[in-house]
Amino acid sequence: MAAPRVAVVGAGVVGLSTALCIAETCPGCSVAVLSDQFSPNTTSDVAAGMLIPHSCPGTALHVQKQWFRETFTYLFSISNSAEASEAGIHLVFGWQVFKNSPEEELPFWSDVVLGFRPMAEAELRKFPHHRSGQAFTTLKCDCPLYLLWLEKRLRAAGAQLYTRKVSDLWELHSDYNIVVNCAGIGARQLVGDKELFPVRGQVLKVHAPWVKNFVRDGDGSAYIYPGIHSVTLGGTREKDCWSLSPDPGTSKDIFVRCCSLEPSLQGAQVIEVKVGLRPSRQRVRLEKEVLRQGEVKLPVVHNYGHGADGFSLHWGTAIAAARLVGECIAALQSSSSRAKL
Ligand code: FAD
Repeated sequence: MAAPRVAVVGAGVVGLSTALCIAETCPGCSVAVLSDQFSPNTTSDVAAGMLIPHSCPGTALHVQKQWFRETFTYLFSISNSAEASEAGIHLVFGWQVFKNSPEEELPFWSDVVLGFRPMAEAELRKFPHHRSGQAFTTLKCDCPLYLLWLEKRLRAAGAQLYTRKVSDLWELHSDYNIVVNCAGIGARQLVGDKELFPVRGQVLKVHAPWVKNFVRDGDGSAYIYPGIHSVTLGGTREKDCWSLSPDPGTSKDIFVRCCSLEPSLQGAQVIEVKVGLRPSRQRVRLEKEVLRQGEVKLPVVHNYGHGADGFSLHWGTAIAAARLVGECIAALQSSSSRAKL
């Protein structure tokens, strides 16, 4: 058969990384990214971009750990290369602090990040309202920079990027042999997935170049993540809330909570307030499906529903999705050679 044509729907961190992984690992196929929005207008542009995963009840822990390890290893190598500043990837040291003892002394990702250890008494004196904590070095993505870098890598790999809203995956069957669904929260409408729900998050970008270490309250109520050009302050988690309008009261609360963790932020200037909808479900949907209309078939690979962990897990899930695309290509090639016999 001719070179298989693969369409990836979605240009957030999941769609772009999946498209890149397919272009790099499935030789001979042509890849197109179709998306109604590109950076800077995706949820992925809003994310803080920290590699600290949450455990997701519907996915086996060893699978989550593998996805995280693969993502960490990939981004670590970028952070350690000449590409680091353009790709917006850097290492950052900091603390996750707890008012009581943490639920897990050793979270599943503790041996993937660097130098994980309990905080020393002397470090804990910085946080008088907290009783314990964990110190480690992890990676942070400056999300819009990273998305632009992925787009550049994709173009260099020969992929095409088109602005297009897809109303129904079936509409792609005449132009593409395989479709990969990376529509994030858009998958709820695109494939009618009622298990997918939004978790609204609001963050502040502030100018505070003196803040060099991250701080995260272990209960998730506040985080301070220094990036290349600004510091991200969060966070909020509002289940089933679809509003994309920033709420001034919420901004004030986030600022107060973060100042109580890092008092020097009182002198910080707010640059921007951003809101995004985390595409959440019990587990990431990462699987093959074959759509059929009569005799005509369209293989689809789904890769969406990363919730609060799109950056922490994206490269691991991209590798798994590209493997499924490879299986679809092999099946198409074997049915086309059977048809010739
Ligand atoms: P998106 O970025 O939403 O991309 C979906 C793409 O699909 C878009 O391009 C959209 O235009 C396109 N699309 C949708 N429907 C259609 C259609 N019908 N036709 C064509 N195109 C379509 N994660 C972390 O790992 N670390 C963090 O620190 C972190 N912080 C966060 C902070 C906040 C405030 C928020 C909101 C999220 C945060 N996240 C974080 C989560 C992360 O942002 C998401 O998991 C991730 O962005 C999901 O990526 P995605 O590519 O699946 O979705």
